[in-house]
Amino acid sequence: MAVERTLGIIKPDSLEKGIIGEILKRVEDASLKVVGMKMLHLNTARAEGFYAVHKDKPFYGSLVTFMTSGPCVVMALEGEEAIKTWRDTAGVTNPEEAADGTIRCDFGTNIERNAVHGSDATDTAKFEIAYFFESNELVNYEWV
Ligand code: ADP
Ligand code: MG
Repeated sequence: MAVERTLGIIKPDSLEKGIIGEILKRVEDASLKVVGMKMLHLNTARAEGFYAVHKDKPFYGSLVTFMTSGPCVVMALEGEEAIKTWRDTAGVTNPEEAADGTIRCDFGTNIERNAVHGSDATDTAKFEIAYFFESNELVNYEWV
């Protein structure tokens, strides 16, 4: 196993529900360490750029509208197999299909308003962390 970093987002629907803390608890319970964190209210250009891989999908416009509808929390998360660990903790895209105990099962509203984002691969994690964080905004510390 290898220590990795991944990009997580606590999406605007979660902020509306007042569950930032509940989600951060799931992060740390999954042995994922927050090594970067900031609150942002994405504008259209920044949300479009982040989700550019989906620009030809039918849900792209609605997704961008949702992600710009309110603030979010972006997080760089570090841990063993962080990319897979965070996606497993989040659950599959559609909350109705997400396994019991996952964030999307417990807190997601629908396939769009699904509580959190997680990078899906090494290269996307690298791109997505750099999309929101300068290298000097990422920290190192040990859990003891
Ligand atoms: P994931 O976030 O699980 O990696 P995708 O990368 O496929 O999922 O999609 C990005 C985001 O777009 C999803 O998290 C969700 O907010 C939204 N989305 C995905 N599929 C749909 C859909 N069929 N209808 C509406 N929104 C969707
Ligand atoms: Mg994705």
